[in-house]
Amino acid sequence: MKALQKSRPEPGLWQIEAPVPEISPDEVLIRVRKTGICGTDIHIWNWDDWAARTVPVPLITGHEFAGEIVALGRNVTGLEVGQRCSGEGHLIGHDSRQSRAGKFHLDPETRGIGVNEPGAFAEYLALPAFNVVPLPDAIDDEIGAILDPLGNAVHTALSFDLVGEDVLITGAGPIGIMAAAVARHVGARHVVITDVNPARLDLATQVADVVPVNVAQEDLAAVKSRLRMREGFDVGLEMSGNQTALDQMVENLVMGGRIALLGIPPGKSPVDWSRIVFKAITIKGVYGREIFETWYKMIAMLENGLNVRPVITHRFAAQDFARGFEVMASGQSGKVVLDWG
Ligand code: NAD
Ligand code: ZN
Repeated sequence: MKALQKSRPEPGLWQIEAPVPEISPDEVLIRVRKTGICGTDIHIWNWDDWAARTVPVPLITGHEFAGEIVALGRNVTGLEVGQRCSGEGHLIGHDSRQSRAGKFHLDPETRGIGVNEPGAFAEYLALPAFNVVPLPDAIDDEIGAILDPLGNAVHTALSFDLVGEDVLITGAGPIGIMAAAVARHVGARHVVITDVNPARLDLATQVADVVPVNVAQEDLAAVKSRLRMREGFDVGLEMSGNQTALDQMVENLVMGGRIALLGIPPGKSPVDWSRIVFKAITIKGVYGREIFETWYKMIAMLENGLNVRPVITHRFAAQDFARGFEVMASGQSGKVVLDWG
């Protein structure tokens, strides 16, 4: 089969011919149809310090996918050959305290397909049946291929009650933009999204009814008064990984405001803790998606009018993956989807 592999510990990905993976009794074999390129895949392409520390070489990469089940391991029940599916790319253990409490997304031994284990940038993927999420007809393969990052957005956005609340999202990357659409869908009042990249803010306005703010040019305090917000934002969703954005968020939150942090800062970054204390702010770190609560909720929302399709700005055939990575790395795109035929 064709696959994209990190073959050498250096920048790039290489298309290879690999054997179709064998499945164990608890796994299914999936014929991959569409895959999404993630920021994580860009880190792996660039072979930065994180990637060099984390990713074994050689490895077939990629973790955002949709496809069709073509074979079932002998222990698998409840799934069928021919069924369309996506799936959770975090492979969890079942022995930890959190796993045994049913909080699978908090298992400390999580391993990621396409990061630690063979991934989805391939014609075929072997996945534990446990991780498979069947897709209803209403969700086509390209939306199925972006459920992983949509899940990050949904998990973060649903961390706190947003109904009637003023929400600040820092970072209009694909995940920040999808979080804005979710915040709108569940009934937030004002949804303000910040970035320093005009193309990204433009895209945000095409996907959701948001107030875009270029923080390189406009001050958030001015935006608050323009929107007649008396005190500040009720909830902040940090989706840039940028220190300045977090500082601005804390500055512009109400007393007792709540922050969900998804963005990953590059290293240790200073935080003015006294401001957090005196404003009585609650901060929640968010990792991945809730397995499988987030999946149920996002599929239900997609079946009931949540539309994130405009966040997909580019589509390429899998063999043109290098173009796809170039577009994704340029910062001028939303989601980029590869077609595996
Ligand atoms: P992205 O890099 O495409 O988007 C981040 C955006 O933040 C960019 O558009 C950038 O221009 C913008 N930005 C930079 N400085 C800013 C500032 N000062 N104020 C506002 N915006 C600013 O990333 P993405 O794929 O949308 O992911 C969002 C974040 O979530 C990233 O940090 C990513 O690493 C992280 N992430 C975390 C998890 C998790 O499980 N915690 C999972 C996926 C992604
Ligand atoms: Zn991803």
